[in-house]
Amino acid sequence: MPLTKLRILTDGLTGAERRFSLRTLVILSSLPLFGVVAAFGLAPDTNTLDITPQTVTEAIALPTLAAASVDETYEREGELQPGDTLAQALARLKVDDLEIQRLLAAPNMRPIAKGLRAGQRVHATTTPDGDLLAVSFERRDAPTLTLQRQGEDFVAAESDATLESRVVMKSGRILTSLYGATDSAGIPGKIADQIAQAFSTRIDFREDLRRDDTFSVVYTVSYRNGEPVGAGKMLAAEFVNAGRTHRVVLYQDPLGREDYYTPEGESLKKGFLRSPLEFSRVTSSFTNSRKHPVYGFHRAHTGVDLGAPTGTRVKATADAVVSFAGRRGGYGNLVVLRHHNGYETYYAHLSAFASGIRPGRAIAQGEVIAFVGSTGASTGPHLHYEVRIAGKPQNPMAIKLPGSPPLAASQLAQFRSQTANWSEKLALLRGTNLAALD
Ligand SMILES: [Zn+2]
Repeated sequence: MPLTKLRILTDGLTGAERRFSLRTLVILSSLPLFGVVAAFGLAPDTNTLDITPQTVTEAIALPTLAAASVDETYEREGELQPGDTLAQALARLKVDDLEIQRLLAAPNMRPIAKGLRAGQRVHATTTPDGDLLAVSFERRDAPTLTLQRQGEDFVAAESDATLESRVVMKSGRILTSLYGATDSAGIPGKIADQIAQAFSTRIDFREDLRRDDTFSVVYTVSYRNGEPVGAGKMLAAEFVNAGRTHRVVLYQDPLGREDYYTPEGESLKKGFLRSPLEFSRVTSSFTNSRKHPVYGFHRAHTGVDLGAPTGTRVKATADAVVSFAGRRGGYGNLVVLRHHNGYETYYAHLSAFASGIRPGRAIAQGEVIAFVGSTGASTGPHLHYEVRIAGKPQNPMAIKLPGSPPLAASQLAQFRSQTANWSEKLALLRGTNLAALD
């Protein structure tokens, strides 16, 4: 589904971000309605001195600003948790207690409250003091229900709003960690995960990240009634790591399968992962990784040692078949995977194996095979990782690992027409970004 019309100013999924977007809107509204504009600013609620997020936004047509009146309203949204009462969910959205009581006492509230289920989204609009102006309930197989304040009462109305997908473009600079930078640029966590995932065959985010690395990302956000309700997916991204530029674009092949490729049509998914260690918001630690020694590859030592806490998940770096899983001398608990073209990978000193890991089992790239430990000849928790080609140990950090073949020539034309738009957007962000960094 190509999105031709960009109508994005900014997104924001939290109250703080929403306030920020309102401010951004004010700035943008004095600028031309058409064309590309960039807004730079510090997001509120960031107390880190060393973060300068650049929020780059594009406005091709301004969205309707009905909600963005000069009187500030606070938009907050949450999901009903299992066992939640409506009152608890609203309290989490910072709705004033008395306001919650007033809403729950409204005559039409009882059936609504009864019909709510875990996982449903509740959206509250309040004044800065927490007075409730409106509350919306997303319902399965039914239009969103909104209760709007009218005097002392709440009047219910069903909205026929459908979900609408918009495109957001942002860029940022790494100062402490990937997630620190995406957070301060207001990029949803789900999209940050997709960035880490898409580049995982090119960049080891645990070890390779450098201060002043930059990135740009183009992604979709779902809107309902002009309000963001959730992050969609990453369409394109660029990551400049230690001066090297990596780019990905999303491509849907004729069979409907979606995958990330370089703008030249080379698949990113099937190269070897740069790191066998799980990287996520929880495990990411740009600064902490400094505390764990990382020993390099040398002749006497057949692999690299990657410091990580016991229990950190270990992933297969490429599609493989398990050829060994058990105890072997100084390796301690060891998994050996056999890949195509005579490649093998070794994962040693493990504390435990993932369930079902035994010789002969087929493993997909990224699948969790084991957990970091300190078994065998090891003085502290770390992963010993080896890559062997035709039985000979190689330096995993230096060898060129095989990727899967690029797209067939017959698909390239379609690939280019489908992804050119996003490549252009990346180039555009690059221009604005560089200007900002100068
Ligand atoms: Zn080692």
